[in-house]
Amino acid sequence: MPTYAYKCRACKVNRDVFHRMAETPEVSCPVCGGPMVKVPCLFNMSRGSSADARRAADQAKRRADMKVELRQDYGVENVSPIGKSDFESVYKDVKASGEAVREQMAASAEKNAAKTAAKQREWKKGAVKRVPKKSRAIAKRQKERAAKDRAIRL
Ligand SMILES: [Zn+2]
Repeated sequence: MPTYAYKCRACKVNRDVFHRMAETPEVSCPVCGGPMVKVPCLFNMSRGSSADARRAADQAKRRADMKVELRQDYGVENVSPIGKSDFESVYKDVKASGEAVREQMAASAEKNAAKTAAKQREWKKGAVKRVPKKSRAIAKRQKERAAKDRAIRL
């Protein structure tokens, strides 16, 4: 026979009662003698939420698989759905556009590589100019400090 939890609404006392599933006995509170109500079965509640959790996990896995597919087949690294469209509709759009997306991704990768290379060239050029400028400034400061030291001594 299963155990059921009963609770007194008046004094919040809990009590476990054994009875058949089909039975609906009148259970009275050991403290005030009032009627106790059956507490919803925790087993059923947790089963419900684990089904939700499983559904969420399934969806997460499906999305992860889609992301892998988009990356491997089309070179799409990041998908941020715009406006109302969700990830799955973006996925469908990418699949529908197929070759066009692949070309777009390759073009943007090329553009990014060129941009990075240009930035690196600029930085190197700047660095060559920056170094003497910086050492000139240091030399100037040292000279000024030395002049100040002399002035104090005099
Ligand atoms: Zn009571």
